[in-house]
Amino acid sequence: MEVKEAPTEALIGGAWRRLERRFPVVSPATGERVAEVADCGEEEAREALEEAVLAFPAWSRATAYERAQVLRRWYERILEHKEPLARLMALEMGKPLKEGRAEVAYAAGFVEWYAEEAKRVYGETVPSQFPHKRILVRYEPVGPVYGITPWNFPAAMVTRKVAPALAAGCTFVLKPAEESPLTALYLAKLFLEAGGPPGVFQVLPTSRPAEVSRPFLEDERVRKLTFTGSTEVGVRLYEEAAKTLKRVSLELGGGAPVLVFADADLERAVEETLRAKFRNAGESCVAANRIFVQAEVAEAFAEAYARRVQALKVGDPLSEETDIGPLVNEAALRKVRTHVEDALAKGARLVAGGEAKGLFFAPTVLLDVRPESLLFREETFGPVAPLTVFREEEEAVRWANGFPVGLAAYVFTRDLSRAFRVAEALEYGIVGVNDGVPSTPQAPFGGVKRSGLGREGGKWGLLEYLEVKYVSLGL
Ligand code: NAD
Repeated sequence: MEVKEAPTEALIGGAWRRLERRFPVVSPATGERVAEVADCGEEEAREALEEAVLAFPAWSRATAYERAQVLRRWYERILEHKEPLARLMALEMGKPLKEGRAEVAYAAGFVEWYAEEAKRVYGETVPSQFPHKRILVRYEPVGPVYGITPWNFPAAMVTRKVAPALAAGCTFVLKPAEESPLTALYLAKLFLEAGGPPGVFQVLPTSRPAEVSRPFLEDERVRKLTFTGSTEVGVRLYEEAAKTLKRVSLELGGGAPVLVFADADLERAVEETLRAKFRNAGESCVAANRIFVQAEVAEAFAEAYARRVQALKVGDPLSEETDIGPLVNEAALRKVRTHVEDALAKGARLVAGGEAKGLFFAPTVLLDVRPESLLFREETFGPVAPLTVFREEEEAVRWANGFPVGLAAYVFTRDLSRAFRVAEALEYGIVGVNDGVPSTPQAPFGGVKRSGLGREGGKWGLLEYLEVKYVSLGL
């Protein structure tokens, strides 16, 4: 079993720190303990903070080529270890193996992209209004960074933050989610094997996130906080980080709408909406949460969609055939159940799924879901597809924009004018037009409104870790 080879200690400086205090990682599929992991507290946090500050001058002054070499080797090792990483994710948070492999490739993609992009942090010169002056603009790393990641994408959420930070010349201390620390620790092991210097990337597993985070939030020398998780926790951390005026990136809750127009390629709309909804059992911040279908094609879409959903295989995340694994924990199951019961009580019709066995919730399709249902008002984070019929484009856009969040939205149409019009009208950071999975390392990922601040991925992800310095040169 790979877990025996996976590190379970904290990575502080360049060494694994064994701690007496441990916390369990439990498989949501079986309820069994997968591992006992070092439970860091304030003391370890303070130590890692000093190491990150100590490592910063050398790492930030290394050439971009030197940093790129470390990242490139890390990328290669991650790909070589695709299988153990996919198995760790299946064990610690229930992600089916085939999805785990896809996530590792996606996660490695960020490291590859930023290994290359590290060399292209170009400065600028700007024409001055004075003949005897020259204006130079250069980009410099912001400083040591503290990052917090969630459990739903235990590999990709780590590399999407760490790779651009390291490429920019920052050092990084990571606090992974308590449900999924093993993948993060394994990635850190691969980083050391790739020649990553001590203190440049450190990992603090803990069951006490607030205690470990406090020293980083309070310290002036930590110049940036990057967080992915719930809006509630994100807002609290934003307030804390304001006291030392840190740069802040927040990737928060979603609740994506899907708009299927009558002029869409229906088969494609069904397939892409299936991926947008049921990838990662719906436990994704860009998961389709509300599906609006135009009246003319509503019945045909619902029928084809339900048929495809019923063919999805629910089961052991370690089995090659499985499409849908368990939900992450009891609280997640309760939320999904409450949302379905509430929709049914308000008049929705169940056409597929609806039942649970242990933490395994059957992929579910509901028709005629009322807009006031919880399914439409909150992020469900589970394998439930609520369908509602709309008549006019304007009505669908109004419904889609009528929420406080704005991460991802999806539009299906073959009308080019409509594609542009609706994509521009949607108040979301990401719009997939005839595309159910737009996330990719080269593109900006992030939301507006209560979905957060900043972008990850592409050149925009690198800017989050760079300060602008203006040098005025008098001749
Ligand atoms: P969560 O906010 O409870 O936990 C996320 C992380 O924050 C974990 O590492 C947790 O330990 C840490 N945390 C919790 N309380 C903390 C505190 N007081 N101080 C410091 N750290 C603390 O979120 P969750 O329920 O685990 O994750 C699901 C949420 O994350 C969903 O709302 C989802 O939409 C969002 N999410 C967003 C993105 C994105 O990129 N926008 C990606 C994945 C998940």
